[in-house]
Formats: sequence, structure tokens, C-alpha cells
Amino acid sequence: MIKAKKYYGQNFLNNKEIVYKIIQAIPKETNNIVEIGPGLGDLTQELLKISFVKAYEIDKELIPLLQKKFQKEIECGKLRLLHQDASEVKGSFDENKYFLIANLPYYIASHLILKALEDENCLGLIVMVQKEMALKFCAKENEKEFSSLGVLSALICKRKILFDVDPKCFNPEPKVVSSVMSLIKEKEFRELCNIEDFKFFLKDCFKFPRKQLLKNLSLHRNKVLEILNSLNIKENARPHEICVDSYLKIYEKLKDEYERK
Ligand code: SAM
Repeated sequence: MIKAKKYYGQNFLNNKEIVYKIIQAIPKETNNIVEIGPGLGDLTQELLKISFVKAYEIDKELIPLLQKKFQKEIECGKLRLLHQDASEVKGSFDENKYFLIANLPYYIASHLILKALEDENCLGLIVMVQKEMALKFCAKENEKEFSSLGVLSALICKRKILFDVDPKCFNPEPKVVSSVMSLIKEKEFRELCNIEDFKFFLKDCFKFPRKQLLKNLSLHRNKVLEILNSLNIKENARPHEICVDSYLKIYEKLKDEYERK
């Protein structure tokens, strides 16, 4: 009997209907899936019915259990099971184009999602996260949840919260409601900006989310004031009131200030 480890964010899904709903949401042409955190393998088992799977699992205690459960699939190459911390993967999660499907460990979910969004082999994600996090990734301007995560995902993805998942569907039950969201990539960051510089820029923009953007970017006050006027954005606009296109335009004009910071 495996005891769930809190520090690895282990809340195992024990509801078949939710697993099927996740499978239904996967684009039909998908033939290569990366799963982070297969856990006890319930989702993995269904993923293997539709695609090749590469799974990263950090918990060494789960590895022999998964090796036994999927012995056939591992032998025939349908499943590649890696005992590895997914956050430590250098470069791509896979050498081929893939979809990321996962019930993510919540303690590290935003980091893994951003890593996948920046990974040019990733075609998109269907992931379960804390509802609060899904709202951030799928937020639009003027919504209170709109933050740098929403700007980054909106820049390159079609985004949707698919459904909520009650804590009762897990063992052990988490304290929060979860949501499954889909982020389907339509572009790469490379086509729009230097992503490292742009992330630094957004960090400044949302430094104090409820303050005015002009205050958050006060180091470049005069320049920002000029840019806001040229874009017809009110001077006292707050970071969550500014749309994704405007963020790109403001960045374009301030780009020299954020290069190689
Ligand atoms: N997929 C299973 C399910 O739906 O029941 C388990 C999901 S559980 C929320 C998260 C899983 O991610 C656990 O198996 C945990 O051990 C694993 N995990 C946690 N941190 C990880 C990391 N950094 N890299 C890879 N796996 C990780």
C-alpha cells in the first residue's frame, strides 16, 4: 500500500469519469503524449490506449509499481517511464512533437506549464491544476485574475477551462477545487518577443498588481507615459486592465531597457 506524499503533491485521481473526460478532450490526431507524474497510473492506462506516452515520475517508490503495471507497454516501447524530476529536464520534455496531459503536482504546476509553453515541441496542454491557477492561466484583461500568467498564455494559446473537479474525486482529498484546462498553442514566443526579456518586463508590470502600471514602471516614467498616451491607454490604468496586444506594444518600445537585464 502506497502512502501519498504531500511534499510531492500526491493527490491520486480515483474517479474514472474524470479520467474519461480528460481523454475525450485530447485532440483526435494526438500520437505522442508527455505525462508528468503518472502516480498510480490510472490516467496513464487510458492515455496508452490512444497514444505513445513518455512519463516523468519523481517518486522512486512508485517506479517499480508502474514498471509492473505497464510491463508489456514498456517492453514494446509504447510507454517510456522515466524516474526523473520534470522540473530539472533541460530543454524539451521530448525530442518529438507532443501534447502534455497531466494531473499536475500543484506545488510546481505553474513552473511546469510555463516550461511546456516555451518548449517548441509542445503542441498544447490539457492539465488539471488548482482552480485558482486555471483561472489565472485563462484570464482575460479586466478580470481580477489577469496576471503575467494570463498574458503569457494568451499570447500564444487558445485557452479554455474545461470543467471543475471536486476534491472528493481524489485520494487523499485536496483542500481546494481543481480544474482541467486546455491550452492549445497557436504560435511560439519566438515569433513575438525575446521571452526571457519579456518575462522580466511583465514581472515589473505586475510587481504590485493593484497599483497603476505607471507606478510599477516608474523607472521609465516619462517614456511609459508617452507610450500609454500613444496607445490611448489611460494614465492611471492598472496592470490587469491592459490587453495582451498593448503589453507587446509597450514592451516593443521599452525593449532596450529590458535587454540582458
Ligand atoms: N497522475 C496521477 C493521478 O492523476 O492520479 C497522479 C497525480 S498527483 C497530483 C502528481 C504526481 O506527480 C505524483 O505522482 C507525484 O509523485 C508526481 N510528481 C511530483 N513532483 C514531480 C516532479 N517534479 N517531476 C515528476 N513528477 C512529479
